[in-house]
Amino acid sequence: MDIGGREIERRVTRFKQACREAGIKLTHQRLEIFREMAQTQDHPDAESVYTRVRKRVPTVSMDTVYRTLWMLNDLGLVTTLGQAHERTRFDANLKRHHHFVCVRCGLTRDFYSDVLDALNVEESTKDVGRVESTVVEVRGVCHDCEKKGEKRRSSGNGAGSDPVAKESHLTRGGTPFFMENAARSFTMT
Ligand SMILES: [Zn+2]
Ligand SMILES: [Zn+2]
Repeated sequence: MDIGGREIERRVTRFKQACREAGIKLTHQRLEIFREMAQTQDHPDAESVYTRVRKRVPTVSMDTVYRTLWMLNDLGLVTTLGQAHERTRFDANLKRHHHFVCVRCGLTRDFYSDVLDALNVEESTKDVGRVESTVVEVRGVCHDCEKKGEKRRSSGNGAGSDPVAKESHLTRGGTPFFMENAARSFTMT
């Protein structure tokens, strides 16, 4: 599922408008950093964004990428994944969505689900804090990894001891997932 040119342009327009409203100068570098975020489905970390943007804008620095991503976060134009102590990954999809994460290669893709959107976990989490949003992370094996696993199995010697076979047995079927309840507030700068 591609993001589509129209959606990318919509995101870029929203970015320009947000910069204007917040009085932030719309520099070429900031625009290119946001454009990279707007067109990717990867949920990249700052380093990956830097590597990609540098191909088009050789003068960009890691520091600028880092600061721009957190500025986008403060503006509400991207969100972040995972916990604070992990290498933060960024996400420019502001539509309500959930994440499929491949347990083998780490691929993270958005998906949409009315069923998950309707989840009400207020009661279960009331002792911990107030829920602001619910993002479900579904873990599984992506099609690419599944294909690689099959290839390895068919050319391998003795499928019984194949660690890939064992792993797929564990992760297939009842898909394990956990919920990540974002309970933090953003400060506008
Ligand atoms: Zn995978
Ligand atoms: Zn996402």
